[in-house]
Amino acid sequence: MTVWVLGDQLNLEAAPLQHDDHVLMIEAHGFGERMAYHPQKLALVFAAMRHFRDELRARGFDVTYLTAETFAEGLDQFYDAAPGTDLVTMNQPSHGAGERLRELVESRGGSLTLVENDLFLTTPAEFDAWAGDSDTYRQEHWYRHVRRKTGILMDGDEPAGGEWNYDDQNRETPPDDWTPPEAPRFTPDETTQEVIEFVRERYLDAWGSVDDFVWPVTRDDARQALDHFVETRLTEFGPYQDAMVDGEWALSHSLLSAAINLGLLTPHEVVDAVEDAYWDGDAPLNSVEGFVRQVVGWREFMRHVYRRSMPELAEANQLDQTESLPAAYWTGETDMRCLSEAVGHVYDHGYAHHIERLMVLSNFALVYGVDPQEVNRWFHIGFVDAYHWVTTPNVVGMGSFATDVLSSKPYASSGNYVNKMSDYCSSCPYAVSKTTGENACPFNALYWDFLKENEELLRGTGRMGLMYSHVDRKDDEEWDAIRSRAAEIRRMGEEGTL
Ligand SMILES: Cc1cc2nc3c(=O)[nH]c(=O)nc-3n(C[C@H](O)[C@H](O)[C@H](O)COP(=O)(O)OP(=O)(O)OC[C@H]3O[C@@H](n4cnc5c(N)ncnc54)[C@H](O)[C@@H]3O)c2cc1C
Ligand code: SF4
Repeated sequence: MTVWVLGDQLNLEAAPLQHDDHVLMIEAHGFGERMAYHPQKLALVFAAMRHFRDELRARGFDVTYLTAETFAEGLDQFYDAAPGTDLVTMNQPSHGAGERLRELVESRGGSLTLVENDLFLTTPAEFDAWAGDSDTYRQEHWYRHVRRKTGILMDGDEPAGGEWNYDDQNRETPPDDWTPPEAPRFTPDETTQEVIEFVRERYLDAWGSVDDFVWPVTRDDARQALDHFVETRLTEFGPYQDAMVDGEWALSHSLLSAAINLGLLTPHEVVDAVEDAYWDGDAPLNSVEGFVRQVVGWREFMRHVYRRSMPELAEANQLDQTESLPAAYWTGETDMRCLSEAVGHVYDHGYAHHIERLMVLSNFALVYGVDPQEVNRWFHIGFVDAYHWVTTPNVVGMGSFATDVLSSKPYASSGNYVNKMSDYCSSCPYAVSKTTGENACPFNALYWDFLKENEELLRGTGRMGLMYSHVDRKDDEEWDAIRSRAAEIRRMGEEGTL
């Protein structure tokens, strides 16, 4: 057997590599032209693959490393040289991907065995046993189930510290004189530099800048990034988890998603490192629990919900949203301080932290009325950690509320949320205190308009009662002004004058 190591399976501990020492890797270039992927995403994947190839060779593996336009072309090259070879690979988390690969291989006279993907903490069988035949899922229940089952952050049968959730301690904003610890930087070596130049020259339509490429592309660098997070950022991760600060793209977030999604780090070791910091007394429980929930709860949950909800999930649009993304998502040019910061972070780094993704980028698209598929495509293009299996449930399910499979209410808010959790509004030409009229914060009118437009679906849904009590207090004159301001904002969004 030959192990086909795919670009998001770059881990020496992966099960197939324990049994066979012949390896196939195909660096396929054509996909980067079908969508204008961020050049840092392209550079990251190709550079990480080449480094992994070198590491495998250094450890004695016999690696066939092919560059091609597509997997199909790469397999043609491979089977011309080695007809009839049997391949094995870990199953792909993205919908139908494993089966498509199998067809490609079989049509060239080989075979492909798909084995369990052990780069996740939980298996499909475990989730399916937990979920039964339900088709709606709630993260909190799953999270507690996994903690109980695995013993992660447990004190006997009880959660460490007595509570499952310390969110009430994790909603702070930093003081004015706070500066976040420096984000780790991994200066590109010769191999990575070569890839960056290749990406620059080939992908002329790619959206984003590759000038400041700092991502870890090897196992050693990724381990260092994890250690750096645990030592310097974890303590403040919790309290400032939901905060946004002008001019700061990383705050105390771990910046580990890209490395985990490539397989350079496993979720097991990330959770272990963070949990150890708690038991050793080096990090507070609210930060540790907050982080563990992101990985053990959200990441695993999204993977399984996606698996069980596709292909309908990718097409979902229960609110019938049809607007196009405002031009500012592509240009970054807008007076809205919050949006220009968040889009700028994505353009410069292929990254924005969770709250910018949820409460600025997807929240604004949601209340503006953008088609969820278009939002999904934008997130897919823009982020270094984007893969269909993780981007889609986050964008279509969580951010766009295009389906209720994973949450019972939309993450929609007015400018109040941004004002509470950031220092953006004080330097923004829009007035967060105004809903209508000249220079009123665009979030506000859109938010009320969104609630009114979607009243039939949303009024009865979980925890929306308070919001609708505010809706009920507005008179016709207020609604006229809100609708007119919302229409004006959409016009400005389309014209690129927001
Ligand atoms: C609209 C939207 C789109 C998103 N798109 C992606 C995406 O394409 N790829 C991606 O990996 N994550 C995505 N997320 C989830 C989350 O925002 C990112 O994983 C996180 O911001 C990555 O930064 P970090 O490593 O600094 O994370 P931290 O804030 O330090 O969190 C720690 C880790 O928890 C995991 N995690 C946290 N939340 C989630 C989640 N909701 N789903 C999956 N994993 C989670 C990640 O592995 C992350 O590295 C998205 C969230 C939203 C709201
Ligand atoms: S005023 Fe509105 S647009 Fe400006 S930063 Fe605040 S929330 Fe964003």
